[in-house]
Amino acid sequence: MSRIYLDCAATTPMREEAIAAMLPLLGAGGYNPSSLHAEGRAARAALDDARAAVAGVLGARPREVVFTGSGSESIALAVLGAARAAGARGRHVVTCVTEHHAVLHAVDVLEAEGWSATRLPVDADGLVDPAVFAAALRPDTVLATIMLANNELGTIAPVADLAAIARRRGVLFHTDAVQTPPWLALDVETLGVDLLSLSGHKFYGPKGVGMLYVRSGTPVAAQVVGGGQEHGLRSGTENVAGIAAFATALVCAQRERAETVVRIGALRDRFEAEILRRVPGARVNATRAPRLAGTSSIAFAQVPADALLIGLDLEGIAASAGSACAAGSLEPSHVLGAIGVPPGDARGVLRFSFGRTTRELEIERVIRVIPEVVAQVRGVAV
Ligand code: PLP
Repeated sequence: MSRIYLDCAATTPMREEAIAAMLPLLGAGGYNPSSLHAEGRAARAALDDARAAVAGVLGARPREVVFTGSGSESIALAVLGAARAAGARGRHVVTCVTEHHAVLHAVDVLEAEGWSATRLPVDADGLVDPAVFAAALRPDTVLATIMLANNELGTIAPVADLAAIARRRGVLFHTDAVQTPPWLALDVETLGVDLLSLSGHKFYGPKGVGMLYVRSGTPVAAQVVGGGQEHGLRSGTENVAGIAAFATALVCAQRERAETVVRIGALRDRFEAEILRRVPGARVNATRAPRLAGTSSIAFAQVPADALLIGLDLEGIAASAGSACAAGSLEPSHVLGAIGVPPGDARGVLRFSFGRTTRELEIERVIRVIPEVVAQVRGVAV
């Protein structure tokens, strides 16, 4: 029985094109792009090509692309770096309660330094109300950070609207877009953001490679200092092989995006409809919000998620409970709490996240197996 992987929001394996882009730069082409000799210049050319390709996808300038060591690091650079650089103007930041911990804990760090922070609530579908956002901006607000799509629910925030409000008020806007490359267009002019974070392993690129878009003229204080690489914003010899793979995977993801959204969106919708039909008490979260086409968060009443996950795993199906980014923790998720799922129900929520390789036959099998596993865990015969 071949395995069925429905945990693409946690991570994706690298695609062939990305591995092919990486291999030559790991071996004979593996030199330091800051070196002046021919080997170094060749590595620099590979780095420049990758930067230009990423900038092309984002509608940005190559100078605005900063490579980092993860999505979390990009977020830390954006939140801590932009806030600290603007600290003389004001010391207030705005975010929302359903952000990834990379954002929430960076905001905690600022608070520990004496900043104040507003964590906006979300509605029952996980969305921030633009009017509430506007009302939260104060004369001393220097930065707002609201994720483009939520990793647990897939909800897509109205970032273009929020960023426009922030800009009118002279507030910098960062968005954590880590979950989005296979599903959404990422043009930074359309989005109107000043800072945008990505992570390679969410779109079939490498783990341990992130990127921060920094709009020209946005003051950002480096958080890792040293040799001054990445326009002085992130020191450390660049992971040229990983960066080349990141760029290749991003270009591929965006090239395939329209087709993937239609194909996988139809599979996801059929999956949800069948689970609702076949599993008594099942409920899909956040259905009234725009959602990423590959994400499905389902509450199964009266069943602990860990028992379901084990049952599914034994059947060859990989999914996750809430967010796997929280290091395997099965604590009730802060996101589910924020949309009003009671803690008892939140313990029975699974996230199924589909990817470009998800096939109809796989979903047919998952649709058959889930009702059986839920019934087993509930202790009733199907
Ligand atoms: N932001 C979101 C929305 C995520 O889903 C993740 C997942 O890990 C991250 C940030 C962190 O990215 P990384 O694992 O590359 O640090």
